[in-house]
Amino acid sequence: MKNLEICDGDLTQETLSRYLEANAIGVDTETMGLVYGRDRLCLVQLCDDNCYVAAIRIQRGQTKAPNLKKLMEAPQIVKIFHYARFDLAQLRTTFGIEVQPIFCTKIASKLARTYTNSHGLKSLVLELEGVELDKTSQSSDWGNAANLSDAQLSYAANDVLYLISLREKLITMLQREERWELAQQSMACLPTIVSLDIAHYKDIFEH
Ligand code: MN
Repeated sequence: MKNLEICDGDLTQETLSRYLEANAIGVDTETMGLVYGRDRLCLVQLCDDNCYVAAIRIQRGQTKAPNLKKLMEAPQIVKIFHYARFDLAQLRTTFGIEVQPIFCTKIASKLARTYTNSHGLKSLVLELEGVELDKTSQSSDWGNAANLSDAQLSYAANDVLYLISLREKLITMLQREERWELAQQSMACLPTIVSLDIAHYKDIFEH
């Protein structure tokens, strides 16, 4: 895989400087499972608009990643996730990172693409980018970070590769349908939703 840098524990100073030049960065994480607190963070993937992908291997028990934190909290750079809610909780509980500003392609898709119920990354990339993502490594052992297979690394990279382009296309759709403002408001309240998730509240907005 070209343009893929593997980092151990944190972004290198050089890669941090490169990413700090960006307006937007695609971000994804791979974990041992879907329960944060129990299932640890194993990999954080990043991609800028030059399609430069970095994958940071996270050590068991690691609690700090200062360069990643600097990037994730940089106010001038939009961090784009697909289903940000999960990744934000992982990054906050593992490293104390308060990501902002945030764009979530899943929220954008749900607000814009009301003609479908398919809001997974695979469906979104297929429809908007015309690319079929290979998801076979989605459920695999990410904990063995020192020995990730080529298939896992290429899967991990592909999950961040299209986020910047998806965001642009989704914003165009949202603006066309006059839903962009609502989308921005929905994304702005994500940190609060994540706080509720971490405190184990289920749905305080329900009757
Ligand atoms: Mn992923």
